[in-house]
Amino acid sequence: MAPGAETLSQTIEEYVETIHRFSRRPEGASTTGLAKYLGVRPATVSGMLRRLSALGLVTYRRYRHIALTEKGERLARDVIKRHRLAERLLTDLLKMPLAEAHEEARKLGHAVSPKVAARLTEVLGSPKSCPHGHPVDVSGRDATIPLTDAPTDRPMTISRLDDETAEVVRYLADRGLLPGRKVILREVDPLNATVALETEGGRYTVGYSLAANIRVDRPKRREKGSTSRSKD
Ligand SMILES: [Zn+2]
Ligand SMILES: [Zn+2]
Repeated sequence: MAPGAETLSQTIEEYVETIHRFSRRPEGASTTGLAKYLGVRPATVSGMLRRLSALGLVTYRRYRHIALTEKGERLARDVIKRHRLAERLLTDLLKMPLAEAHEEARKLGHAVSPKVAARLTEVLGSPKSCPHGHPVDVSGRDATIPLTDAPTDRPMTISRLDDETAEVVRYLADRGLLPGRKVILREVDPLNATVALETEGGRYTVGYSLAANIRVDRPKRREKGSTSRSKD
């Protein structure tokens, strides 16, 4: 999108959503992390954070992790929900390719009013997830792990694709690496930073970071009968 083409409210929504995304990671949300992700200078991020703080959406102090306030958290969940419903609209109703869904929904999601969101939910049959497998309602816990952390030689169900950019989704879709499909992690080669995978379509070697973007359902412990860890 051309600079200046986004409205302030769109930018606010994008920041809040990004902070939400980062705050669920172990490293948390930082000015440098946000700048890198959003492709802007750290000074731009700092300026925007002051604005978000004045609006009561974030709390932040220099060199500290940025946190959403309750109001910010509510907005983030709402933004995410509209985005994921918009993706469903594009793939399920308009039959657009999955690879294009995320970018198109970025523009469309901001325009979805609460009324339209409610109608979309109904028409789409109350979808639980976006077509990449991410939950429409993000209030629950994340019970998935990166494929690279999964046990080897065991069929795992793909739960979601973390990276929704067109090239990544197209690459993974071509190899049958989509939510709901089965995948077996055969081998991790740390020296070459590659991972050998098997799907119904065949055996593939993909880059480690790409494989780490594929998240699978946390495996249930079968042998020892102990309960699975409750921590993410
Ligand atoms: Zn998306
Ligand atoms: Zn998605």
